[in-house]
Amino acid sequence: MQSREATGRTRRLLLTLYAILAAALIAFGVFSYTSYEASLNEQVHERLAAIASLKTTEISAWRAERIGDGELLQRTPRLGGLVERALSEPDQAAAREELIHWLQQVQKANDYSQVSLVDATGKRVLSASPEGEVVDEGLTREAAEAMATGKVTIADFHRDGSLETPVHLSVAVPIVSEAADGKPIAVIAMRVDPTVFLFPYIQQWPGNSPTAETVLVGRVGDDALFLSQLRHGAAPAASIKVPLTATDVPAVQAALGRTGVMTGVDYQGVPVVAATKPVPDSPWAIVARMDVAEVYTPVRARLRLTIVAEVIILGAGLLGVLHVLGLQSVRLDRERLDDEAKHAWLATAVDSSLSEVYVVDVDKLVFEYVNRGALLNIGYSSEEMSAMSPVDILPELTDESLVAAVRPLLSGEQERTTFKTTHRRKDGSEYPVEAHLQLASREDKQLLLVNVHDITERRTAEAKLLEHQEHLEAEVAERTQELAATNEELATTNEELAAMNEEYEASNEELRSLNAEAIEAARETERLNAALAKADNAKSDFLASMSHELRTPLNSVIGFSDVMLKGLAGGLNEEQHRQMEMINNSGRHLLLLINDVLDLSKIEAGRMEPTPESFDLATEAVRALESLRPQADKSGLRLEAAGTEASCEIVSDCRMVRQILFNLISNAVKFTAAGSVSVEVVERSDSCEVQVTDTGIGIAGEDMARIFDAFTQVGMRNDHPDGTGLGLAVSSRLAQLLGGDLTVQSTLGEGSTFTLTLPKEHKPSGAS
Ligand code: ADP
Repeated sequence: MQSREATGRTRRLLLTLYAILAAALIAFGVFSYTSYEASLNEQVHERLAAIASLKTTEISAWRAERIGDGELLQRTPRLGGLVERALSEPDQAAAREELIHWLQQVQKANDYSQVSLVDATGKRVLSASPEGEVVDEGLTREAAEAMATGKVTIADFHRDGSLETPVHLSVAVPIVSEAADGKPIAVIAMRVDPTVFLFPYIQQWPGNSPTAETVLVGRVGDDALFLSQLRHGAAPAASIKVPLTATDVPAVQAALGRTGVMTGVDYQGVPVVAATKPVPDSPWAIVARMDVAEVYTPVRARLRLTIVAEVIILGAGLLGVLHVLGLQSVRLDRERLDDEAKHAWLATAVDSSLSEVYVVDVDKLVFEYVNRGALLNIGYSSEEMSAMSPVDILPELTDESLVAAVRPLLSGEQERTTFKTTHRRKDGSEYPVEAHLQLASREDKQLLLVNVHDITERRTAEAKLLEHQEHLEAEVAERTQELAATNEELATTNEELAAMNEEYEASNEELRSLNAEAIEAARETERLNAALAKADNAKSDFLASMSHELRTPLNSVIGFSDVMLKGLAGGLNEEQHRQMEMINNSGRHLLLLINDVLDLSKIEAGRMEPTPESFDLATEAVRALESLRPQADKSGLRLEAAGTEASCEIVSDCRMVRQILFNLISNAVKFTAAGSVSVEVVERSDSCEVQVTDTGIGIAGEDMARIFDAFTQVGMRNDHPDGTGLGLAVSSRLAQLLGGDLTVQSTLGEGSTFTLTLPKEHKPSGAS
């Protein structure tokens, strides 16, 4: 709709624009045509006036020249005498001969057609070329005037006889006698043939024009006379006359002595444009004229061109506008068809929709339209419905209540209204519905558009929801009761808790006193510890001095038993040798034990001070390994070293390190029956490791923690009675004293790996 209005507006706009453009174009055409016409007219006028002016000037000059010829002749010496003699003595053949000869000279020199002598009576006395005696009227009159005034005059166009004879002019030269009074005695008439110069000159037209010409005119009585030969028509010169009353004829205006440009009618009765101008010092005037038709030829061509161009432009514009309008109307048609198709589709969609749609005539309260969905549900046919009123299917409503229900719609109070009611089918069954009502007028008819939804399912769902809700409420009530009971129980428990709290307070009090006692006990422990440390120190001191005291006699026992075993003190029998060996072995074992005890007690008493120096741990490891080769060889064990070719420099106590290494490797050899003992040196970023690995008896998991304790031996000790159970204890403590660590990994029956880790640079504990 909107698009249609817009299209109408566009159409009006286009047409208006076209009209404005067309008017502007036509106005422009008219303006350009009229200005062109005016300028062309002006040009033609100027041109005609210029030609007329040029011709008059030339003709005037030509006349002056003729008079000049006459005056020159007049002043010729002895001419008066000769003429006098020829006149007075008619028989004087000599004088006449001489004069004729002389006139012939003049005629020849000045190119006159005839030169003759006319006496005072107007009779031709002599001629340069033979001719009759009588002269024409025109010349007679002029000759008389010349005689009277004594001045050279030009006798106007005249003929010697009838109209057929050619017209000519004459210059009348009065000749004065040589006598003292000097009166004119005769006239020499020099005839000019105008066809020789004058007429051709007048007829000459600059440029190329089919109709233009210049005409010489004069006045004869009340007429204007065309003097020169005319371009059009065969009339002889000086034969056509026009009465002076015909003022629209340019020749008349010229004859009346007027100068200017005018339009009028010429001798042929054709409309002309003409410029008129009198020739100065003469009775003549010039008319330069041109047919109006010729003047307007280019104007008409221009007009034709302008009209053709405008018609083409306007036609093209009109075609364009019509084309645009045509396109618009095609588009409109298409839109209309689309609209119709949409409406048709919509109508089908509404009709085949499964929701119920009713259109009710409000005034008659009858169904106008019922869609298929409604028919299917309600069970009536379309024809049956068209005869029914809405209340027929609405058991809950009457005509009045229905009208009351739609009143707010009719009054415009509401745009749509919704209510719930019941529909009754043809078979009498009923179902709940929700109806949406809306007013839809068609032309002058009030229609009600009713959209009905069957809400049976919704009702069922609502009922279920209600049931569920009631169930929930019952549950909530039950739970609330339970909660109340629990609350009561809680209150009782709270009371009990309060009682317990009191008891707890009392216990707390007891705890506090116990705590005080515990603190006292801790202090006692501290005191005891101090005493213990003191005792420990005393023990260490004792052990140190005792060990020292024991070692001296022990060395003697070992030394002497060695001497005896080597037989240096005399031979021993087998039994003596066996017993001496036992003494020697026990002594050595004891010395070992004492050394270890001494070391351990020194360490524990903090009396063992490391002396740091720089050495290569790998070299020391190899050295310790090699020192135990004899024992290994004895047991048939392989000794292997890995990673020892590269040095691993550390700063530590070399003696202590040697002791640890010796201990670890000798244990490995000791507790390995077959296989190998290997040493591997590994360098870490700021530490070095020595791993001693054997394929010996291994250590049980539960024993692993204990083996670093003093006097601890685990496993089957009977095979190795030479152990003290102090080696690992001393080694572990030495490693810690050097800032390192000693750890073990072992599997019973498979072997063990003891790892000694030492910092690359040992910092004594006092320094850190
Ligand atoms: P001992 O003088 O008995 O060797 P140690 O302190 O050196 O005393 O060792 C403690 C005990 O740890 C040893 O008796 C032995 O039972 C166990 N032990 C030490 N080294 C090894 C080893 N390489 N393989 C198996 N058991 C070992």
